[in-house]
Amino acid sequence: MIDLCTLGTGGTMPLHTRPLASLYVRCGKRALLVDCGEGTQVEIGRLGWGFQRLEALLISHFHADHCSGVPGFLLALTKAQRREPFHIYGPAGLTRVIEGLRVVAPGLSFPVVLHELTGPGEHFQAAGLQITAFPLNHGMPCYGFRFDLPRPGRFLPEKARALGIPLPLWHRLQQGEAAEGWRPEDVMGPPRPGISFLYATDTRPVPAIAEAGRGTRLMILEGMYGAEEDLPKALKNSHMLFRESAALAAQAGTERLLLTHFSTSLEAPEAFLPAARAIFPETDCAWDGMTLTLGYET
Ligand SMILES: [Zn+2]
Ligand SMILES: [Zn+2]
Repeated sequence: MIDLCTLGTGGTMPLHTRPLASLYVRCGKRALLVDCGEGTQVEIGRLGWGFQRLEALLISHFHADHCSGVPGFLLALTKAQRREPFHIYGPAGLTRVIEGLRVVAPGLSFPVVLHELTGPGEHFQAAGLQITAFPLNHGMPCYGFRFDLPRPGRFLPEKARALGIPLPLWHRLQQGEAAEGWRPEDVMGPPRPGISFLYATDTRPVPAIAEAGRGTRLMILEGMYGAEEDLPKALKNSHMLFRESAALAAQAGTERLLLTHFSTSLEAPEAFLPAARAIFPETDCAWDGMTLTLGYET
């Protein structure tokens, strides 16, 4: 099971009515954050899911609305008495950016481990999730992220019994650990469908988004502009219209599309939903603090 919260839905700059776009991803006792603009720590506090379980931050790119909240966020982790290493992933240049931001946040209670993403399709794991970072088109290095939570097969007690595996070892094998020479695959059925979703903002449409979205339950994409007459602005600033995000969701064949990262000029994003739903009916606008749960399909 995965719990998600769109902590904010704003693009470019925070408004008193709309914090900046950021995603809290909770996977059991572990969690990660995607993007950390100015004030993100305030929204994490408001949500109440805690700072303690956060173990990684994924930064899509280095525009201020996606990373200027890092010093305050790291200090909040220190206030939460974090001791374990904290991992930050981001495009090339990450080390320079984070070292610069950390000048104003010295004396952290934990080590920060930086991972620069440079390849076209980088794979890594964080908070128990398998993550694929893929490049977007935003006029500067920028990544979208696909998240996969695999689900192991069903535990087959009759197999464990037939193999003579002692009962005390069953739990470890069930958890996917080898135990005294027995392997989990000896006693598990075939893998079952897991949970997959995607997050990508700040980009023109690129085929990689639709490709990475295949087989996902949910895509969270940007809704920077709603009106058709904003297309020149979308082209100039490398952003997308609602209908362009909807077209990517339709191409990917995902189950649901959530739009976020709204322009400050978009006072009522819902007004532009009909244009998106005409292309992909299962489209909604996210709101600040919106939570949703992606459970396993039974
Ligand atoms: Zn942005
Ligand atoms: Zn940007």
